[in-house]
Amino acid sequence: MQKSEALFTRAQKTIPGGVNSPVRAFKAVGGTPRFITKADGPYIWDADGKQYIDYVQSWGPMVLGHNNAAVREAVVAAAQEGLSFGAPTEAEVLMAEKVSAMVPSMEMVRMVNSGTEATMSAIRLSRGYTGRNKIVKFEGCYHGHADSLLVKAGSGALTLGVPSSPGVPADVAQHTLTVEFNNLDSVREAFAEHGDDIACIIVEPVAGNMNCIPPVDGFLEGLREICDEAGSVLIFDEVMTGFRVSRGGAQERYQVKPDLTCLGKVIGGGMPVGAFGGKREIITHISPTGPVYQAGTLSGNPVAMAAGLATLSQLEADDMYPSIFENTQALADGMEALAKKHGIALTTNVAGSMFGFFFTDDEKVTSYKQAISCNQERFKAFYHGMLEQGVYLAPASYEGGFMSKAHDKAIIDKTLDAVDKVFAQL
Ligand code: PMP
Repeated sequence: MQKSEALFTRAQKTIPGGVNSPVRAFKAVGGTPRFITKADGPYIWDADGKQYIDYVQSWGPMVLGHNNAAVREAVVAAAQEGLSFGAPTEAEVLMAEKVSAMVPSMEMVRMVNSGTEATMSAIRLSRGYTGRNKIVKFEGCYHGHADSLLVKAGSGALTLGVPSSPGVPADVAQHTLTVEFNNLDSVREAFAEHGDDIACIIVEPVAGNMNCIPPVDGFLEGLREICDEAGSVLIFDEVMTGFRVSRGGAQERYQVKPDLTCLGKVIGGGMPVGAFGGKREIITHISPTGPVYQAGTLSGNPVAMAAGLATLSQLEADDMYPSIFENTQALADGMEALAKKHGIALTTNVAGSMFGFFFTDDEKVTSYKQAISCNQERFKAFYHGMLEQGVYLAPASYEGGFMSKAHDKAIIDKTLDAVDKVFAQL
């Protein structure tokens, strides 16, 4: 760990916290973040040369595994033609066509550079389209760091939102209503009070930022109904779930059609890409066809489009999902069996290639409240034990895990051997 330690010490002198995105700093688990030098298939290597089986996958994008040859070659070929033109390219047309074919509710698509940009723009579009101010989000869901999304619930069920970060004006936060995931009654209450002024509901259809919590039966359908009744826009934030919980995302898996969809992560194959899109009638309100402003110097960047297209093409051509899903379930089932063997209270959730495990006595975790009341100390001990064994998990208990095509049965078995050893020490 010497090299990671030295780099971390040095990094903290010129980068706040030594990192460019906070969860990387290992604050939730303590210890030194591993500085990574390379990645291939299911593996990453740190600066000290230690190899890990990686279940973070750059926080989701690498569904094909790291350093996929076709993606790498497409990026190199695109880079040889120039890095950015600030003018339209054929690759952007191909990308919009491909996204629209794979996620049919996205009749039109606008490319951006991150998930944050996608959700921020989808919200502005919903407000511009409906002429309303308020938005509804769910406690424990994360949609990037735009002001109106960094908001937590007020003290009572129906109070207006309060900023969850300094720097977000209370005047902005008051327009965000935060309700409970998997609880339609809380959504109905918000609509009963403010329905006339609610522009949209934004939801992670499978919550992946409070560990992994799939929707309970009827939850997404209920959101669809509520939006239809109130004339509000339903936004699925599929930045994590897109091309991951099924080829067509959560909307395909659960058969509920949103008005707008936000994408990120997988769509860029590891390059900085996001997208939003949906019903033609709504998205044509965006500039230049409509009055709602949105733009980007590097949006639709040719190198990023090449990575995204090479990724999506493989996902389209090869039916890899059943085996990825099977391996994800096998890992979760294996962990539960080992927990039983060692007398450890643990439950897991799986949605396609996303998984979560919770150190709790609860039989099933379906709510934010349950997710945050899991045993943190046990998670930390488990986390560092696994790291020691060469398995890299998300360094916080409120983050889910990701499986890739490159994680085969042998990798799952190796991971479960490590789990067995670490559970024995807990
Ligand atoms: N939405 C969801 C569901 C996410 O998980 C994330 C990032 N983890 C974002 C939006 C923000 O994406 P980005 O970090 O690319 O801005």
